[in-house]
Amino acid sequence: MTAPEATGPEATEADDALLARAAEDFGTPAYVFLGDHIDARATALKEAFGGRFSLSYAAKSNPNPGLLAFLEARVENLDISSIGEMRLGLKAGWTPERMSFTGPAKRDAELDEAIAGNVGELIVESLDEARRADRIARAHDRRQRIMVRIGPDTVPKGFGDHMAGRPSPFGIDYEQIHEVLPQILALENLELVGLHIYSGTQSLKPEAICENWRNFIKIFRDVNVTHELSPERLVFGSGLGVPYFERDVPLDLGEVAAGIAPDLDALRADARFARTELVLELGRYLVGEAGYYLTRVTTVKHSRGATYGLCDGGMNHHLPASGNFGMVIHRNYKMHKLGGGEPVAKVNLSGPLCTPLDKIGVNVMLPEIAAGDVIAVHCSGAYGMTASPLMFISHPLPKEILATGSQLRDVSRKLGDL
Ligand SMILES: *Cc1c(COP(=O)(O)O)cnc(C)c1O
Repeated sequence: MTAPEATGPEATEADDALLARAAEDFGTPAYVFLGDHIDARATALKEAFGGRFSLSYAAKSNPNPGLLAFLEARVENLDISSIGEMRLGLKAGWTPERMSFTGPAKRDAELDEAIAGNVGELIVESLDEARRADRIARAHDRRQRIMVRIGPDTVPKGFGDHMAGRPSPFGIDYEQIHEVLPQILALENLELVGLHIYSGTQSLKPEAICENWRNFIKIFRDVNVTHELSPERLVFGSGLGVPYFERDVPLDLGEVAAGIAPDLDALRADARFARTELVLELGRYLVGEAGYYLTRVTTVKHSRGATYGLCDGGMNHHLPASGNFGMVIHRNYKMHKLGGGEPVAKVNLSGPLCTPLDKIGVNVMLPEIAAGDVIAVHCSGAYGMTASPLMFISHPLPKEILATGSQLRDVSRKLGDL
């Protein structure tokens, strides 16, 4: 199997021209999402796995309405984690039947609106939630399709973030599943159509990803065989990572696909799973590298031997790039100055907030910087604005620009848009 061409983290000259035009036409700070790269990623995923997986987009990674509308024609399923994300998906043109609803603490009001609104599947994360959903479905005289999320007991090494083998708010512990599942199956207004596992993410190691999915397959087999189920769908929370930092080596998707294809084929060869749809659920790998955050230097100053570029947007718009989103040590996201030039000196880039936490770059090698220059932060298409403290210090929201081909469109949101 040959590796399909991946969209690299290095911005090409054509990308740079688009980014410069976005900064010029719409102003900064801004997020820019390059649609062609997302298209290429979606195609690469389908081709690498030879169609064995359909795709589910985790809206929480970037619920920009323009982006959701763009993805509607390219991805089969939308995974929502709140009723707000469901409303955004509906407004963007997704039918509710193509949505699945995950999340550990769904409120009754959310379950009610989702069930009444014909959500495709509810991803049940606890027995208590299943009972509440059953009661609410009965009140609507409906039988709600559900999948049960299982929390595995192990996850291999090599995941930036994981939630397996320790106490967790997510899903039903694998150790309890055989006891709990019959109680869920007995609820008359719920119809179990499959199982769901998402136990770790941000892995750049093909072997770790494959080993993790093999564990999912083992669990899926065990649960379906034990309870004599033939599932309609099985959801694999992907774990596919993106190269945020300078020394990160981009994932070799071909190697992941070659490693797992025999296991997927063996699963499908079993009559119980012959008609099961296998779903790859992901966010960052689909949209992360296609997005850039543009922030403009407003002031250059020197302080005790260091050069600072003080920028018009920072941690308030892009918490992860400031190193404050689950990171122990600050590492700089890859970034470059629009318009290029040879790197000449190390500078610190900080945002407009009155806190030392607002660092976008620490000792970054950059060309000479001056007020007016625009810095493009890479790998910003996922967990950017959606994961940031937008209200803090009351600066305006960033613009959000979607490029389809060479066309740029303002898809900015306003606070309170849900
Ligand atoms: C966040 C999330 C994802 C997507 O994770 P990525 O790391 O962005 O790929 C998928 N499924 C569920 C249930 C999630 O909560």
